Amino acid sequence: MDVIARRADVRQANRSIARQAHESEFVEPVPFICECGDTTCTGFARLAVDAFDVVASQPEWHLLGDRHGYRAAVVDAGGVVVELPALPHIVQ
Ligand SMILES: [Zn+2]
Repeated sequence: MDVIARRADVRQANRSIARQAHESEFVEPVPFICECGDTTCTGFARLAVDAFDVVASQPEWHLLGDRHGYRAAVVDAGGVVVELPALPHIVQ
């Protein structure tokens, strides 16, 4: 499986996680699966479900998580990493 196919599979799983978080009105950071594309990565990116919805709205964006040193970060098509801030009510 190549990186693009792996990311597509993980994105589909993360959309399912987001749908369930919305349905249960979950307000804490949700552990989404790292979208780096490495099939051996078992990391999670923890972010609000609304923030995930924004990331998922951009086809060129993907998440990086704890295995890469971030709570949650977004990588764009140019490889620019933007680390997402922690939610104000969550102290980690
Ligand atoms: Zn990863």
